[in-house]
Amino acid sequence: MNFDTFNLNPGVMDGVRALGYSTPTPIQLQAIPPIIQGHDLIGLAQTGTGKTAAFVLPILHHLISSPHGQVRALILAPTRELAEQTDTVITGLGQKTGLRNMAIYGGANMEQQIQKLRNGVEIVTACPGRLLDHLWKGSIDLSNLEILVIDEADRMLDMGFLPDIKNILKCLMQKRQTLLFSATMPANIRRLAEEIMHKPVTVQINPTTTAATVSHTIYSVEDSQKTSLLKDILEYTKTESVLVFTRTKYRAQRIAQQLKNTGCRATSLQGNLNQNQRQLAMEGFCNGSVKVLVATDIAARGIDVLSITHVINYDMPGSMDDYIHRIGRTGRIGKVGQAFTFVTAKDAAMERDLRHLLDKGKTEYHTVQYKERIEKPQRQGVIRNKPVYVPRKAFSTV
Ligand code: AMP
Repeated sequence: MNFDTFNLNPGVMDGVRALGYSTPTPIQLQAIPPIIQGHDLIGLAQTGTGKTAAFVLPILHHLISSPHGQVRALILAPTRELAEQTDTVITGLGQKTGLRNMAIYGGANMEQQIQKLRNGVEIVTACPGRLLDHLWKGSIDLSNLEILVIDEADRMLDMGFLPDIKNILKCLMQKRQTLLFSATMPANIRRLAEEIMHKPVTVQINPTTTAATVSHTIYSVEDSQKTSLLKDILEYTKTESVLVFTRTKYRAQRIAQQLKNTGCRATSLQGNLNQNQRQLAMEGFCNGSVKVLVATDIAARGIDVLSITHVINYDMPGSMDDYIHRIGRTGRIGKVGQAFTFVTAKDAAMERDLRHLLDKGKTEYHTVQYKERIEKPQRQGVIRNKPVYVPRKAFSTV
């Protein structure tokens, strides 16, 4: 099966070739035909499945015949990183279409955004807050909108964007095509879909389980041993880019610093950074100068770095939906990945949920009891030496 099956406009196909896509991914196979036919669509797919191209290609195909300088497609994204990434995919796939696109998000220069809008743009990818600023200012006109995409809808609602989305919807024509993508389908998303969509087609990829290309390991560990375990893993496992998740901004900052102190190319991505620092951290991680990124869930949303070989849950995620999102960062198209999750006695309930999730998806996983080996004191008074690595085979597999 190749992209010819979709009969996309030749200008759009040029973009597909330029990005080197040869075979459509399952979400693309399922979603592109109904979107081209004009149906509303709910796409249940996590990041890493090729979902962006699944909606971008039909949008380009639809708009290419008559670009006219007005905003005709709008993609709502929860974070600026995701908005930028989506805009980059549009630029790549749309490079021979003559269509113009831009990303709109807070923290960037408003005047520059207004100028770009004035020059004429057909496809806008926006974060809800800044888009509303433009709507209130009258600097964006959405009265010609034909296609609306709500991307990562579950994240969007988690982040409290529902009122903003509702306000944006008030400014849109009723007659439009609406596409909603989400990794999970909690009741609030189902309700939103019922309210705003017309007879949507639903397509589903790996509904509630984790990517098949990822292997999972659960480490039972004491809270105080987590950092040594992390250092051991980084030292003795063959990794490319590694994404480490922590529960709080402070922990992300602290752990990144501890890793840096051992000479590891690590940095943190968390809410205490300003826009410039976030961008630097992301750029470093994308170009490989930063090998280990320690992040909170919110900061890591939308990260799309193909070289991520390992996702390490230093702290257990708050829900299984978060687990699916975190793990979705590795094992992306054509790659394999590993997920390591540190669990302490306090995480018992969440650990049960995780095992249930993995069992349900018939996903194989290992459980490892981490025992930090402490060298015998050499002489009296030395209580504890630097922890020594326990070779993998010495970890007892339960
Ligand atoms: P997404 O799920 O949209 O974040 O896409 C994940 C990654 O897969 C991105 O780096 C895309 O450029 C890439 N991708 C999307 N579709 C294809 C395809 N058909 N073949 C190869 N790579 C793809």
